[in-house]
Amino acid sequence: MNPIPVTARQLGMLSCHDCHLLIEAPTGEAHDHLGCPRCGAPLHERKPNSLARTWALVCAAIILYIPANVLPMTVTTALGTTQADTIMSGVIYFIHSGSWEIAAVIFIASIFVPLLKLLILVILLTSVQLRSHWRPKDRTMLYRLTEMVGRWSMLDVYVVTILVALVKLGAVASIEAGPAAVYFAAVVVITMIAAESFDPRLIWDALEEDA
Ligand SMILES: [Zn+2]
Repeated sequence: MNPIPVTARQLGMLSCHDCHLLIEAPTGEAHDHLGCPRCGAPLHERKPNSLARTWALVCAAIILYIPANVLPMTVTTALGTTQADTIMSGVIYFIHSGSWEIAAVIFIASIFVPLLKLLILVILLTSVQLRSHWRPKDRTMLYRLTEMVGRWSMLDVYVVTILVALVKLGAVASIEAGPAAVYFAAVVVITMIAAESFDPRLIWDALEEDA
């Protein structure tokens, strides 16, 4: 077993979330009204109400994920007939028309990745809530993964744009975004905020405090 290194919190220090300046925490006082002497950002030991906030955002994203997948994502009009497609029926359409690469990209970007991110956040939240000692390093890596994927979240939006462009190039059809697009954008944005509001140091706090 490696010895657990001493943390800033154990030494009574606070680190600024914005500029990472390390300052000595005043004793006994609530840190909430404290400002960073260098950049003025509010100082706190951990992101305030991280668990409650992240849970609320994750729940909202999971609820919105349902209409995003059930309602039509695209409404296509070709030769007088109108067809509404959900994300999944779009994927199936591309598989049937032989463009399995496009089908794979849409499936991964629009169904798999958002679901994976939500699942990881639920695992992290549950484990922190239960004060789990289970593989803290791996859990921190999972968190880093969601953060990394977060930067590519807008990929989903690009996929729809490319889809629209492809159909437009066909010139025989007109395509419009369906109501699911709004819900989908909300899922992407809310999941990004949820990942941001989670404080990964909470993963290690349980280990330190129970040590
Ligand atoms: Zn600062």
